[in-house]
Amino acid sequence: MTRIGIIGNGVATTTAIREIRGKNQTIEIDVFTDERHPYYPRPNLIDLIANRRTVKETIRHDLDWYLKNDVDLFLSTPVFQIDTEKKRVISTSEDYGDYDSLLIAVGSRPFIPPFEGIHKNNVHVIRTLDDALDIREAVKGAGREIVIGGGILGIELAAAMKEIGGDPIVVDYDNRLLPIQLDDLGSSVLAKQLEKKGIQVLFGYECRGITGEDDATGIVSTQGDEIKGDLVVIATGVRSNTIIAKNSGIDFHHGITVDDYMQTSAKGVFAAGDCMEHNDLWYGIIPWATATSRIAAKNMIDFGSARFGGITPSNQLQVAGIDLTSIGLVHPESPDFEAVVSVDMEEGRYFKAVLKDHVPVGGIALGSRKVAMHLRSLIMKGERVSAINETIFEAD
Ligand SMILES: Cc1cc2nc3c(=O)[nH]c(=O)nc-3n(C[C@H](O)[C@H](O)[C@H](O)COP(=O)(O)OP(=O)(O)OC[C@H]3O[C@@H](n4cnc5c(N)ncnc54)[C@H](O)[C@@H]3O)c2cc1C
Repeated sequence: MTRIGIIGNGVATTTAIREIRGKNQTIEIDVFTDERHPYYPRPNLIDLIANRRTVKETIRHDLDWYLKNDVDLFLSTPVFQIDTEKKRVISTSEDYGDYDSLLIAVGSRPFIPPFEGIHKNNVHVIRTLDDALDIREAVKGAGREIVIGGGILGIELAAAMKEIGGDPIVVDYDNRLLPIQLDDLGSSVLAKQLEKKGIQVLFGYECRGITGEDDATGIVSTQGDEIKGDLVVIATGVRSNTIIAKNSGIDFHHGITVDDYMQTSAKGVFAAGDCMEHNDLWYGIIPWATATSRIAAKNMIDFGSARFGGITPSNQLQVAGIDLTSIGLVHPESPDFEAVVSVDMEEGRYFKAVLKDHVPVGGIALGSRKVAMHLRSLIMKGERVSAINETIFEAD
């Protein structure tokens, strides 16, 4: 094999490049991305909005990094289709992108519910560096910012806006924040801490549309309740980018489907990161992207050398100085599980451990990084604990 093609230039791609170069220095690597910037980690975008980083500091790998790794990077080059017979990538580039082995790592895109008026000025989503620059600029002229969606991204975004002088409100149709990572009690503790920091949270608000003529002036709910605001950001989740698979006759469901080797239904074409699913599972987080791309890269070089065994999903959130970690199973539905909970509403501390047969299998740590690290190590060890009570949160 002489040439590897990679579509996309996110964390799945840079991880794959490192893995490939660790094993082989001569193989040609071509990377095609629709973005105009080289690689930046998406969490840096929150820092960019909060003015904690410049654009230069947001970018993790400048063009020199690609040169050093002997990678041909094609910026602003969207790929539409793969000719899996001729082993060729079809893009806007004049170079047709022939490959021996190909990795699709095109990530995901923001999901936008069918709200009325989403095309008005000052309605944004957040995915790319350019989105972040637009939002930061828009906050300067806004009196009040509305963030639709109380997931991790919505909360982090609101906290960043607050830091640069904004007055954000987060609305969610659900009755709690971070429904994947937190339970009801944990959500109440977090909401109270956010309000103490000047970030208003409104639950049970089902947005119907964006109000205003050309410019957004606020949002309206299905009940007819209006909230005034001159900047609206929609942070209601993401969907895998599957259009290339669709155009190329490659199987996909919610994401591009792969086997244990990260190979798609087309031989020699692999997928990793936010754009793929494995055994009906999908996560839009960095540990998923890096774990799957390492497996894909190994198999692209030496097919059959690595099989994917899944990951333990883990989210670490630092928002307005509040530490939150959510690991593994946090919403047990069967009576086979036991849960231990410790709460201090005033101090903004909430801990939960989920156990099966005395073995910790998941947990939440809000307000203490030390407890988070301790819980994580208990879960990773997977050993039985003797006492199922609050002493489980004692780190020493
Ligand atoms: C603001 C923000 C903050 C986040 N914070 C965290 C966090 O703290 N922790 C965490 O675990 N996760 C976080 N995430 C999610 C995380 O960034 C993603 O899970 C991760 O980026 C997925 O990596 P990826 O390489 O699969 O996809 P992406 O990073 O989305 O990269 C995909 C690449 O493919 C390119 N592309 C797409 N379509 C095409 C095409 N047709 N042709 C060519 N190129 C194409 C894109 O431009 C991009 O370069 C955050 C996401 C955002 C938006």
